[in-house]
Formats: sequence, structure tokens, C-alpha cells
Amino acid sequence: AKIRYGISVEFKNVSFRYPDAADFALKGVSFSIGQGQLCVIVGRNGSGKSTILKLIARIYDPLEGTILIDGKDIKTLKLDDLRRATAVLFQDYTHFPLSIGDNIGLGDPEHWNDMARIEEAARLGGADEVVARLPDGFDTYLDSSAHDTYCYMPAETLSRLRKAGGLKSTESSNLSGGQIQRIALSRTFMRSLSPEKPVGLLLFDEPSASLDPVAEHDLFERLRHLRGDKTMIFSSHRFGNLTRHADLILYMDNSVVVEEGTHAELVASGGE
Ligand code: ATP
Ligand code: MG
Repeated sequence: AKIRYGISVEFKNVSFRYPDAADFALKGVSFSIGQGQLCVIVGRNGSGKSTILKLIARIYDPLEGTILIDGKDIKTLKLDDLRRATAVLFQDYTHFPLSIGDNIGLGDPEHWNDMARIEEAARLGGADEVVARLPDGFDTYLDSSAHDTYCYMPAETLSRLRKAGGLKSTESSNLSGGQIQRIALSRTFMRSLSPEKPVGLLLFDEPSASLDPVAEHDLFERLRHLRGDKTMIFSSHRFGNLTRHADLILYMDNSVVVEEGTHAELVASGGE
């Protein structure tokens, strides 16, 4: 099997302010995540967690400082190569007015209708339990979401889907927030499954925000087994199951990393 070993990520004194914002969202942030490590960014609302993930995905560039991906300045990488090497679940994930199978398959636009991979991705993201309860299974159509304009699909893929009839949404099925999150998680895993173009970095912004405790536990167990092969960076509001297994926790407050270490180290210093 071709395994792409995880990608390292380093921030050197990174500062960032959103366009038109008055305050900095990140101030002098530095950290280093080794190949195949699991890093969890913990902090309260607005502390800067999502901003770190967006900068790694290069949705934005830092105003100051340097981001190194696999030891190379992110600005010197081809955006396409970076995107191919990375699977992301953003906090504001969405779903498309397509079947559940298509919603997952779109994680890997080159294999969007490869049923074996879709099933494997569904197992990893927990959508398997959702489709098992639906009479039409993976063929169940999803209602369009309020923000389905927020679409990362290449225009070419979109037109291919339209031609294939994939955008005809006649039947619809409203699922719960947690069920939709499982589908979004599965889409991210779909992206990470490509053996031809292996992904070395997984970014998950609050992956269990809508999951029940059992689903959260199952997800973290599955993710733990991917570690070593892929570098993983998650965000979370709290210390718990996920941080216990982290190689590195970055504790954010007010746009800065106030503490870093393992779960045991941060809890000992009163971080919990
Ligand atoms: P949460 O736990 O609520 O997801 P977070 O730690 O992910 O919070 P960020 O989304 O990184 O926080 O936000 C950091 C700061 O940047 C906040 O002060 C926020 O108001 C600001 N911010 C975030 N997104 C934008 C944006 N698109 N435009 C302007 N300011 C933004
Ligand atoms: Mg956030």
C-alpha cells in the first residue's frame, strides 16, 4: 500500500487580521506539529481556533510570520498541491441538494461515484448508521441547505453532476444536525481515502459539535487509528476524550496560544 506519511505543520510568529476587522484574530502564534501527530486546538469562542485551520488550508495568508508545510513556506506551494494533500472539515460545513452518496462522493471529485470508497468513507464518518435507517439508503436525496452556495466543487464537477442528473432533487429528506455532520465527516474522509493521491493532513474544525457522546467516542477511536499515517489537527471547545490522546494541545485565548503541552501537562497546570 502506498502510504503518504503525515505532513508536518509549523507556525512561526504568525499574526493575522481578517479584512476589514479592527482586531487581530491571531497574534504572534508559533507552534510545531510533527509528521503523523495529533494536535488539538482548544479555546473558547472567538479565541482563534478556526482561523488557524483556515490559514493552514490557505483560505487566507498571514499578515506577518511564516507557515511551513512539510518544511516549505506555504506561499511557495502550489495551491492545488496543498488542497490535494489536505482533507478539511470546516466548522460551517454544508450539504448539497444531492443524494447522500453524492454528498459523500464529492469529497473526491475524481471518484465521486465509486461506491466502495463511499461506503468506506461512510463507515469512517458514521454516515453508515444514517443510511442504514433510510429506505433509499445512499440514494436518499437531501434538501438543499440554507448555504449551499458555499460550494467547493470545481465548476467542471458541478456541470458533470448536472449532466448525470445528480442535481435533480425531487425527493428530499430532512436529516438532523448530527446526521448531516456525519455526512460532512464522511465527505472529508472520502477525500482522505484516495490511494492515488494520498492525503497527509486532516483538519477538522469541531468535528463532534453536533454528535452525541457515543458517536463522538466512536469517531475519536477511528481517528486515533489513522494517526501516524496522517497528521491531524482538530479544534475543540473542551478538554476530554480527544485531548487525552493528543500529542500536542494548543490552548488559545484571545488570539494567542497561552499554553501548549499534553493533556496531563495542561490539566496539571490548571487548564481544565
Ligand atoms: P468558535 O469556538 O466560536 O468557533 P474560534 O476560536 O474558532 O471560535 P475564530 O473563528 O478563529 O474563533 O475567530 C477569531 C476572531 O476572528 C474572532 O474575534 C472573530 O470575531 C474574528 N473573525 C472570525 N471570522 C471572521 C471574519 N470572516 N471576518 C472578520 N472577523 C472574523
Ligand atoms: Mg471556530
